Amino acid sequence: MNPQANAPSPVTAATPRRAATLGTLIEMHDVALTYGTGPTAVVAIHGATCQVATGARLAITGPSGSGKSTLLHLMAGLERPTTGSVTWPALGEDPLGRPGLVGVVFQGPSLIPTLDVAENVALPLVLTGTHARVAHELAMDALDTLEIDELASKLPDELSGGQAQRVAIARAMATRPVLILADEPTGQLDRATGEHVIDVLLEAANMLGAAVVISTHDPAVSDRLTTQWRIRDGVLSTTDPSTTHDRGVTR
Ligand code: ADP
Repeated sequence: MNPQANAPSPVTAATPRRAATLGTLIEMHDVALTYGTGPTAVVAIHGATCQVATGARLAITGPSGSGKSTLLHLMAGLERPTTGSVTWPALGEDPLGRPGLVGVVFQGPSLIPTLDVAENVALPLVLTGTHARVAHELAMDALDTLEIDELASKLPDELSGGQAQRVAIARAMATRPVLILADEPTGQLDRATGEHVIDVLLEAANMLGAAVVISTHDPAVSDRLTTQWRIRDGVLSTTDPSTTHDRGVTR
């Protein structure tokens, strides 16, 4: 087997991915999601309709429990709507059928504790069929791009919170996704570290030409993005007070 098979080329500032020509990445129509059934059922999302376009720099803001994670999971194809539809026109099918095209940065620690940093970052590549040696090279490339290659042989429990979150970003970008979804990526970090993590995330997205959607309850984070949507009690509002800057998002 050709070890380069399925391997994305290295991520560098000179090789932005083809995302710029892809069009609408996510389309949601009247989406509702209910967890559970009967008297304990929780309607986490009510009738959300929206589109996320190529190049989006989008913040989804709302207090804890308002539905931000659920909305991001729907966008990633990790949850299915109870009613309504979620489609990914530019991907052709849902992200689970096209692994590697959507990178997810989860809230809090998400690294596998028994794998070192390089192995954690290489994992999504290996899972998408990239030869282990090539996956390692690409993982090192992503770590190098984020200037954390010196962490490569450390285990997750040897990392600070900010370092772990940067490694999670490297893992999300290693497959050169067209869309990065980050769920409260700074929720457990102090202000300065959180700012740096957002810098890194936006730089990674710029390099890849990827769209970015970040959920946050922190205005210091949402202000860094071009467009802000709000969610309250599962109701999504896409009316952006700063629509004059509304690039990359259609609705
Ligand atoms: P946020 O990310 O804004 O904190 P979530 O999307 O996590 O909000 O949660 C939205 C609502 O759905 C909350 O009421 C939460 O308790 C509920 N919820 C989230 N996940 C589950 C689950 N797996 N089972 C039942 N209820 C859930």
